[in-house]
Amino acid sequence: MADTLIKIDFSKTPEEQECVHNRWHPDIPMIAWVKPGDDFVVECMDWTGGQIDNNDSADDVRDVDLTKVHYLSGPIGVEGAEPGDLLVVDILDVGTMDDYQWGFNGMFAKENGGGFLTEHFPEARKSIWDFYGVYTKSRHVPGVNFAGIMHPGLIGCLPSQELLDEWNTREGKLIATDPDRVPPLACPPDASTAHLGQLSGEAKDKAAAEAARTVPPREHGGNCDIKDLTRGSKVYFPVYVKGGGLSMGDLHFSQGDGEITFCGAIEMAGWIHIKVSLIKDGIRKYAVKNPIFKPSPIQPDYKQHLIFEGISVDESGEQHYLDAHISYRQACLNAIEYLKKFGYSGAQAYAILGTAPIQGHISGIVDIPNVCATVFLPTEIFEFDINPTAEGPTPYINGDDIPISEWKDK
Ligand code: ZN
Repeated sequence: MADTLIKIDFSKTPEEQECVHNRWHPDIPMIAWVKPGDDFVVECMDWTGGQIDNNDSADDVRDVDLTKVHYLSGPIGVEGAEPGDLLVVDILDVGTMDDYQWGFNGMFAKENGGGFLTEHFPEARKSIWDFYGVYTKSRHVPGVNFAGIMHPGLIGCLPSQELLDEWNTREGKLIATDPDRVPPLACPPDASTAHLGQLSGEAKDKAAAEAARTVPPREHGGNCDIKDLTRGSKVYFPVYVKGGGLSMGDLHFSQGDGEITFCGAIEMAGWIHIKVSLIKDGIRKYAVKNPIFKPSPIQPDYKQHLIFEGISVDESGEQHYLDAHISYRQACLNAIEYLKKFGYSGAQAYAILGTAPIQGHISGIVDIPNVCATVFLPTEIFEFDINPTAEGPTPYINGDDIPISEWKDK
């Protein structure tokens, strides 16, 4: 096994560790330097820095401090990397920590984070997923058992000052259109909980006031939450500062396309084994604006799906013009209503769509006025037959067996 370049002390808070940061800023000092061609292991906390426990209450998800997330490991400097280069990252492997053979999926309360279907599921929920090698199952969501596709939800290089300013300007403009919205339109800088690795004193205060939050994906990659960025894939990141400053975290055991529950996938602490190299002047050579990547040759081999369609007509029956967001929401809601026929509560079905390797597709985006979005639900992950038959569905899930009353529909 390669050397561990960044080691997390899980007995300490993230703020006590200089190898961890929770904002993007060009002044965050490199925690380590490597050479092109090096491979090494990076340990990562779960994205909340240990705020969520393995128990049967969703109170910790309800009360989570979202100004603190995400806790990332890094930044790592690569010798010779300069603005304009592409940093090539081979994700050689991703794994779990011996002491954390479990992960969590949550739905944030509407007042504290929300999620894709927050109007339908406004209350906090949490499911715990136990790991059995490559497989996972949950005592809160019975009847499913599937292979994980471990991947970093968040990975990217530090922005330049110029790029950071651009992010703050454009996101600030959006927030100004409806500053009191719940959930907010975007997350502005928040110095109160900023943790910038080794940066301290006045330099930290100055950077913290403008450092970007880690919530959205941006030009550098960041919080892309792409389930296919799994072990065995190769990513090409734009470099904006000397050394690149590669950071990563938010490891997922598994996730469905869209990460629709927002908290989000099966979130876990773990490690990632990567190799770095450079393509000098690669941004110009390949016209790269956002990262590009090659997927892994290793993927779960789920071939059978039940596919749910959704169109740009909202829950009240109102027609929208080519709105892919509404179409994907309708496809997800259709899948949830279907799964409820087998005894799941709506929240459990929502959790399955967030955690299992479902695929989301934009199937048609030109046929005015409706986008056709589709959700591919793998049928082989269920311990019972979910296909439609002439006899109709047989309820399989008994809600009384679930060790937490809040999972039942009210
Ligand atoms: Zn995540």
